[in-house]
Amino acid sequence: MAEPGVSSRRRTVLDDLEAEALALEYEMRPAEDLVRFVLENYHPRVAIAFSGQVEDAVVLDIAYRINSEVRAFIIDTGRLPQEIYEYVDIVRDHYGIKIEVIFPDEKEVAEMVYRYGFNLFYKSVDLRLLCCHIRKVRPLQRYLANLDAWITGLRREQWASRVNVRKVEVDHDHGGILKVNPLADWTYEDVWKYVRERRVPYVSLYDKGYKSIGCAPCTRPVSPGEDPRAGRWWWERDAPKECGMHCSIYTGGFEKELATILKGGVRRVGD
Ligand code: SF4
Repeated sequence: MAEPGVSSRRRTVLDDLEAEALALEYEMRPAEDLVRFVLENYHPRVAIAFSGQVEDAVVLDIAYRINSEVRAFIIDTGRLPQEIYEYVDIVRDHYGIKIEVIFPDEKEVAEMVYRYGFNLFYKSVDLRLLCCHIRKVRPLQRYLANLDAWITGLRREQWASRVNVRKVEVDHDHGGILKVNPLADWTYEDVWKYVRERRVPYVSLYDKGYKSIGCAPCTRPVSPGEDPRAGRWWWERDAPKECGMHCSIYTGGFEKELATILKGGVRRVGD
């Protein structure tokens, strides 16, 4: 889905070497510098992935201070907590911006639910990944097909599969567009320090013990001292705390991440 008035023509983005050089250049510089670079070079064909995570709130705040017309999008999986919908409206009012909402394909969801039921994710890791794929990954793929770059709030310390996140990457899972992760080297404390100092609005779930935000049936609060992502798909054992949005299931990126964690063979969803 292209924003009205935004050209669907793809411009040439960077190759792997150029992206790596840029990542090195910005590794030690403030996140603001990188966000400014990306907005100045790619707006309006760049958007922020906004899922309600506090990191996304920080990225949006940084970007809004640079360009008040910055684009942001959220994937409405159909299973989000009510607090997220309330929060998105708060963000809209706070910044006076519109957040683009993208949805899964209705037929794909209907087919999946017809075959496996509404709560298929509790039955197996494969079915959980299938649900994430239909409700998150495929809508994201369709949306990013009209962009040259996207900005995320990924941080290296979030989970084992994220330790190698670069600040700038060529996203081969999404057509070779740029993926920009300005908070890659931030700690959880850095994020909350920014939120407090700038009075950034955040979703109320954090005040109820949540430390990572996702779909309602797949996310729960964590205990003090527990890993922040332990509340995601908490019933699974030895499975990645990932949905495939940041490492594709079909191009192999997801399997690599999964294999790294499991240190063993993995199956593709549907195999
Ligand atoms: S987080 Fe849960 S409900 Fe949401 S898309 Fe993934 S499996 Fe489905």
